Amino acid sequence: MNIRLFKPYLTQEELDSIKDTFDSGWLGLGPKVMEFEKNWSTYIGGSYSLAVNSATAALHLALTAFNFPQGKKVLVPAITFVSTANAALYNGLIPVFVDVDPITLQMDIVDLKKKYDNDCVAVIPVHYGGYPVDIENILDFAYDKGMKVIEDCAHCAGGEYRGKKLGTWGDIGCFSFEEKKLMTTGDGGMICSANEEIIEKLKPYRWVGIDKDTWKRASEFRNEAVNDAYHWHYLISVLGYKYNMNDLAASIGLIQLKKLDYMNMIRSKHINLYLENIKDLKEIKPLLPYNTKRDVYWIFGIRTKQRDKLIVFLKEKGISTGVHFYPLTLHPLFMNFYVPCKTAENIWKEFITLPLFVELTEQEINYVSEALYQFKG
Ligand SMILES: *Cc1c(COP(=O)(O)O)cnc(C)c1O
Repeated sequence: MNIRLFKPYLTQEELDSIKDTFDSGWLGLGPKVMEFEKNWSTYIGGSYSLAVNSATAALHLALTAFNFPQGKKVLVPAITFVSTANAALYNGLIPVFVDVDPITLQMDIVDLKKKYDNDCVAVIPVHYGGYPVDIENILDFAYDKGMKVIEDCAHCAGGEYRGKKLGTWGDIGCFSFEEKKLMTTGDGGMICSANEEIIEKLKPYRWVGIDKDTWKRASEFRNEAVNDAYHWHYLISVLGYKYNMNDLAASIGLIQLKKLDYMNMIRSKHINLYLENIKDLKEIKPLLPYNTKRDVYWIFGIRTKQRDKLIVFLKEKGISTGVHFYPLTLHPLFMNFYVPCKTAENIWKEFITLPLFVELTEQEINYVSEALYQFKG
């Protein structure tokens, strides 16, 4: 046995779509990216979308959209991937770490209120693992204080809360299409907002500050009605980045998006089987209060006091594991921003992420589950 932790679900359809882009002779930022953005907006509903090369870039630009003065503060959960907090640093802002709820592992609203001060300008809640944060209460508090809310949706593409897609609740939603996430474009990300001005404003920021992308210029050149010798001309007014998605990635994304609900449904079935299999274990408990009828999940994890021994035991059985995540407050990068997050700093020691991906088989899930029963500690 050799079971991976994550695996993208790719078929002939994605290959055909890539071939289509090859045949078009246009691989960069172009019509496939625009089509993918349009389809994404339709899928999540009530939103405009801007495709970028990662969720890291999406989070960076999401904060850039508001022109916050340098040195202001951004509230982020202590348990998340580093990019959530880096978004603040990239913008000359200070990350303020908020502890997590011990049960849901989501940003703790009580600690959020405690860590808030007048310098806080934004909150970036993460729907960690795919479990929705208490977004309504976070929005109430944030808007009452005049803060912006950026949802980090790297773990919940396709997920909903009260019938409304995650990523459409706050001012901006950021998604990841990195290869281990719920759907992939190899690497990629999406910025979403119901506010069209935000998306228009960010367009040059993803394309080194250029106000007209090359595809638009090429289209104007081919359009004979435009009798203009300056079709090539553009102006730089902002310090932008090379953060665009390209047509090759978007051609994969177009197909993956069509399959997203199916893939989420299969992952939920896998989680249901895991949960049923391990329900009699005493020392090993599910990581989250999984509700597969309501949510979509990126990871299936467990908690155990014997974490490190179990990781080695599973490794010997050919089962890959991970830990999501070591608290950001404990990383040297954030030493100067340290604030206590007691729950996060203890609870991560119990985390193990188990294999979860579409093509994981029932036999493999049973094999992993049996290994958990065999573990004597
Ligand atoms: C993966 C991840 C990101 C970054 O996504 P990329 O597309 O790899 O840049 C951001 N936030 C969270 C919570 C993540 O898990």
